[in-house]
Amino acid sequence: MSIIGDYHMHTPRCKHADGPLEAYAEQAIHLGLREIGFSDHSPLPNGMGANVRMDEDELDDYVADVLKVREAYWGDLAVRLGIELDFVEGVEEFNAKLLAAYPWDYVIGSVHYLDPDCCFPSWPRKYTGDVHALYAKYFEQIRKMARSGQIDIVAHFDVAKRCGTPHGPAEADDITATLQEIARCGLTMEVNTSGYRHSDLLHREPYPGLPTVKQAVELNIPLMVNSDAHTPTHLCTQFAVVEAQLRSFGCRSLVRFEGRRRITYPL
Ligand SMILES: [Zn+2]
Ligand SMILES: [Zn+2]
Repeated sequence: MSIIGDYHMHTPRCKHADGPLEAYAEQAIHLGLREIGFSDHSPLPNGMGANVRMDEDELDDYVADVLKVREAYWGDLAVRLGIELDFVEGVEEFNAKLLAAYPWDYVIGSVHYLDPDCCFPSWPRKYTGDVHALYAKYFEQIRKMARSGQIDIVAHFDVAKRCGTPHGPAEADDITATLQEIARCGLTMEVNTSGYRHSDLLHREPYPGLPTVKQAVELNIPLMVNSDAHTPTHLCTQFAVVEAQLRSFGCRSLVRFEGRRRITYPL
């Protein structure tokens, strides 16, 4: 496998992942990776979404934990400090402070909620409402996030398909426009392989699905492949399959990050 790292991994602090952090590092070494990055769910103000993320006052300890693992595995495995930042309108100032306070290697940006109060999720389970409106709103938020200037990497591009209904021809223009916006803003996109594990998808596939990955390659959007691991055995989910697909699409390089600087390496 040419993919050298997995940069989307969670920790028990988000309340829905297993640890300890060292177990992710051990699994990465076992799988032959050279780098990993932790990117746990960022806190939000006023207790919003508190059940699936660390609290604000845990940030210091989260960062300290990751830096401790970095030191412990120095020379064997590079450990990067990341965060999965929630893009929610009205939270930009809170996020800006959080971003300035720590030595992040990269910031993965996610749209998990479609409203400013974090009550309406991006993928209501078995959604029976207007699915086209759901996708339209979701991709609009992704474009706003891309323009926010706060993130390096767009997370799970079409995760709204967890609502149970895949996007179709009606979403094609929106998807193209969103990819173009990501390219224009100079951002990286992850191919998030957690979709291969998610039973709420109609078809097991990554985020985004492979036709959209091909489009991203054609638009020269820098890519990385991430597992969105919530337990150590999730690391590198289906990476070999995705790597072969990327090659068949003409993708010849992937990227990694250090100190929020993007570094390209050959695939
Ligand atoms: Zn999670
Ligand atoms: Zn996410």
